[in-house]
Amino acid sequence: MTPAPDIIIVGAGMFGVTAALELTLRGHEVALVDQGPPPFVLAASTDISKVVRMEYGSDAFFMALAEEAMDGFDDWNQRLSRPFYHQTGVLMLSRSMMTEGSFEHDSWRMLLERGHSPERIQSDDLTRRFPVWNETAYADGFFHQRGGWVESGALIGELFELALQRGVRFIQGAVTSVLMRNGRCEGVALQDGTSLHAGRTLLACGAWTTKLLPELDPFFRSSGHPVFHLRPANPAQFTPPAFTVFTADIAETGWYGFATHPSENVVKIGRHGTGLTIDPVSDAREVLDDDETSLRAFLAASLPDLADAKIVYTRRCLYADTMDADYWIDRHPQIPNLSVASGGSGHGFKMAPIMGGLIANMMEGKKDTRLDRFRWRTDSRQSRIEAARFDG
Ligand SMILES: Cc1cc2nc3c(=O)[nH]c(=O)nc-3n(C[C@H](O)[C@H](O)[C@H](O)COP(=O)(O)OP(=O)(O)OC[C@H]3O[C@@H](n4cnc5c(N)ncnc54)[C@H](O)[C@@H]3O)c2cc1C
Repeated sequence: MTPAPDIIIVGAGMFGVTAALELTLRGHEVALVDQGPPPFVLAASTDISKVVRMEYGSDAFFMALAEEAMDGFDDWNQRLSRPFYHQTGVLMLSRSMMTEGSFEHDSWRMLLERGHSPERIQSDDLTRRFPVWNETAYADGFFHQRGGWVESGALIGELFELALQRGVRFIQGAVTSVLMRNGRCEGVALQDGTSLHAGRTLLACGAWTTKLLPELDPFFRSSGHPVFHLRPANPAQFTPPAFTVFTADIAETGWYGFATHPSENVVKIGRHGTGLTIDPVSDAREVLDDDETSLRAFLAASLPDLADAKIVYTRRCLYADTMDADYWIDRHPQIPNLSVASGGSGHGFKMAPIMGGLIANMMEGKKDTRLDRFRWRTDSRQSRIEAARFDG
């Protein structure tokens, strides 16, 4: 009879896998459960690329967190089987001159305040440095070398293998409920009728979180966002240094993207906006004609050489939005032995190198001031969107 683990983690996306790895390294017996083989195809963490940036407007807290995470990516690039983080730099463009209060302006100022050295990019520089951009559409912005992209799905695969090597037990199955006894959590029930018991349970279920904990419905929203993979006629034209990870007046348009992916040979473009409310279990996750029409209009105005590129893949991927766009990492205030780590709100993956430590500190009750903003908070009036997010 396999002894019960100390900790069950439900969800093997970025939050769950990094927590499993860190908790095991700290000596806990961990069982990791997911409805599919990691990296699970429908998980938000499963993708060819995610942006790694430290720019968060005037939010110094998140910039500091991202700085720490980037040092973590450097370390992982040394210690893992190969580099998964690619520091190509990020180009953040603004259609008008950067002014106080805009995402680009406030990020620029915060970078300077924190000792970074971004390079200002105005129309003439754009033509010279990043020639595929329509310089008449973007008056201002900056390029910051410290940033780039990470192969998110592949990294989850690597970390998952590492976790198994370190003794994490993986169980594939859909969790249908949290098991309770005398008001305390004692494990989970699975769809196949079996149950798993443990000292503590962590729900790291991303956009599915409220399926197991409906009391969080007022504070979470599962939102779906379009992603496009385009195959340009000349992929080399869209490679660094002439083309790199970008945000195109993102807080006003939502558009962001990546250079040609070295192995997939596609240019990925996504929209970081309000998105559609999508039920992670029952709703279809389709990219609509309207999404494509908007994309074509953006490309025609901004990247004319990409305007007619063939779309070879689309996806509507889900954010686990919290009402204030801050992550949700805390113990349940009323149910002993139950904790939640979720709420990536469309900007969580870049924190992967520090996420395991944050969650393990929470599980062990260790003082960590970084967790203060991620505590259990049920004041839904505190609504806010992330600095780069387009409210439309
Ligand atoms: C389109 C898009 C673009 C993004 N771009 C960026 C970016 O550029 N930079 C960035 O930093 N972040 C980005 N993000 C956000 C980032 O991907 C997420 O914050 C992060 O990956 C969330 O990880 P997670 O572990 O919470 O969720 P997920 O990766 O979704 O993992 C949750 C896991 O839980 C499992 N699960 C759920 N319920 C159950 C159950 N009942 N039983 C068993 N298993 C269960 C699921 O199968 C899944 O594998 C983006 C997200 C999307 C959707």
